[in-house]
Amino acid sequence: MDLNTQKISIIGAGIGGLAAALALAQKGADVTVYEQASTFGEVGAGLQISPNGVAVLEALGLFDAAKALANEPESVIMRDYKGATITRLPLGEAALQRYGRPYWQFHRADLLDLLAKAALDAGVTIAFDHHVTNVTGNEAGALLEFEGRDAVLADLLIAADGVRSPTRSAVFEGEPASFTGQVAWRGLVLADKLPAEMFPNAAQVFMGKGRHLVTYPLRGGSVINFVAVVERENWTEEGWNLPDVPSNLQAAFSGWCPEVETLLSKVNDTFLWGLFNHPVLPRWSKNRIALLGDACHPMLPFLAQGAVMALEDAWVLADSLARARGPRRGLHDYEDRRKDRATRVQNGALRNATAYHLKSPLVRGAAHKVLSYLNEEWLLGRFDWLYAHDVTRGEP
Ligand SMILES: Cc1cc2nc3c(=O)[nH]c(=O)nc-3n(C[C@H](O)[C@H](O)[C@H](O)COP(=O)(O)OP(=O)(O)OC[C@H]3O[C@@H](n4cnc5c(N)ncnc54)[C@H](O)[C@@H]3O)c2cc1C
Repeated sequence: MDLNTQKISIIGAGIGGLAAALALAQKGADVTVYEQASTFGEVGAGLQISPNGVAVLEALGLFDAAKALANEPESVIMRDYKGATITRLPLGEAALQRYGRPYWQFHRADLLDLLAKAALDAGVTIAFDHHVTNVTGNEAGALLEFEGRDAVLADLLIAADGVRSPTRSAVFEGEPASFTGQVAWRGLVLADKLPAEMFPNAAQVFMGKGRHLVTYPLRGGSVINFVAVVERENWTEEGWNLPDVPSNLQAAFSGWCPEVETLLSKVNDTFLWGLFNHPVLPRWSKNRIALLGDACHPMLPFLAQGAVMALEDAWVLADSLARARGPRRGLHDYEDRRKDRATRVQNGALRNATAYHLKSPLVRGAAHKVLSYLNEEWLLGRFDWLYAHDVTRGEP
């Protein structure tokens, strides 16, 4: 299909919406991204982008610019809550050798900025302060309605409007995302407030009963990012992330090893995120409307793949539309090429939630012992299905 003839609207200027906008504009489409916020927020802190996500950045022509912003960790160090090392998953050179591409970590704002600038350069319009209130569609196109603004007609509409996607409920009759019983605090601490030897160039995962904490350096090691997850029964309906006081976070990890306690003692600002999931949708596209990223497959962060899957979606969407004879066929092909993989990753992240939070000290001790005996290269090989996959080579 000749994308030069297509006027495409995208809802949401997150990683997924911006990557899709760029990929489509590079193929000639006339793309406008509608974002409800008035600017990019800094909320979100760190994002790990594994080699399968780097493949998409590379295909979009962003490899060098992204490399300049990325942190490249040497390994993932798995530790128990008392600080004892259980095992290491080698990354750095090992990931590069094995997958031909690096494993990177970014400040989310840096990655958003990179994608936004590239999208603008490619001719995309990003319309901030555009809150979409309703979406309808038929075989010929889609209509977007906004709060306090004129409606817009599009040949194609891509809804990358996040985990609480209004389009998913309005058009696809999907159930609302449900709370998983887990919350995550996220935030950053300036590295010069911390003993350097406690935070090497690695992702560290500290695991204890019903909770875990992940930490890694960003921006050349000048800041330390953390994600701290605990199980909890309820979540407010006000939003999916809220500012919280550091003392709640500190109390949740009180008595943990010095690395964790020292890091958390320096936290000034933090946000608490509810973690949501929803059943796999029967369809991701209808007429000329399709969902992308968290809007269609929100996942727990325990494989660090939500943004990576949004990048893969974006590439496959543009490729499928460019190859198809018509827009509806193209959206169907996109869905067919993406659904099994996204579902597999969603399920894998769910399984990791249990593994990280083992409650019984006996079971936890035994599981950690088994992990400690495993060969490190073999451990990395367990991720081949995920990291070696390259959607830009046209794989399904
Ligand atoms: C604690 C935690 C850690 C994570 N770590 C990682 C990681 O290391 N690696 C990784 O790959 N992923 C990670 N993720 C997941 C990742 O953050 C998300 O999967 C990813 O950001 C989803 O991108 P998206 O573009 O689909 O949605 P979003 O980033 O949510 O963007 C949706 C956009 O749509 C806009 N929008 C919504 N409704 C409307 C409307 N009505 N009108 C106009 N605009 C609207 C929103 O304002 C928003 O800008 C993590 C998630 C969490 C919670």
